Amino acid sequence: MEKPHLYSLPKLSYGYKDLEPYISQQQLQIHHEKHHQAYVTGANAILERIDQARKEKADLDVKATLKELSFHIGGHVLHTLFWGNLAPPGKSGAKPEKILATAIDKEFGSLEQFKKEFTQAAVSVEGSGWAVLSFCRLTNRPIIMQIEKHNVNVYPMFTILMVLDLWEHAYYLDYKNLRAKFVEAFWNIVNWEEVRGRFELLLR
Ligand code: MN
Repeated sequence: MEKPHLYSLPKLSYGYKDLEPYISQQQLQIHHEKHHQAYVTGANAILERIDQARKEKADLDVKATLKELSFHIGGHVLHTLFWGNLAPPGKSGAKPEKILATAIDKEFGSLEQFKKEFTQAAVSVEGSGWAVLSFCRLTNRPIIMQIEKHNVNVYPMFTILMVLDLWEHAYYLDYKNLRAKFVEAFWNIVNWEEVRGRFELLLR
């Protein structure tokens, strides 16, 4: 087994300018280098605090600590998935292919219907949160989740195929308060090949 280690900020597979005009260089850079980094730093700090308390046999507020840890780990994992399911316009594949296309059609009736439902989920996430396409192995059905913050309403064991960050920090510089505009822009930079790759990995 690999040695336990801390979380780290993943490198993006594209440049900060490469998602323009849908996400600006400034918006993407701050989001990745500052916001995502803060969750990595936060999660690691909490893990170190837990280690320290164990070593010193000190009391730890377990409930508060675990709640905070879940928030930061959720933030880190969701952002990592988010960067991975984005791609520069034109390099992202125009639409779902093969097995992913089939699964979407079967569940939602059409790609248009899926996009409509996902968009509705995205624009209506309460406060800060995420719209997520996941897959339930118990029923073999794709399902849309609305995650609040980074860790609320998550279905255990459902595999995440695609996420969209709806925190204001994801779009405020580019779209001000217009979340729906950002959601509309998102469809131009979805990395459908990556989404399909996650699905295929799950079915292997
Ligand atoms: Mn974010």
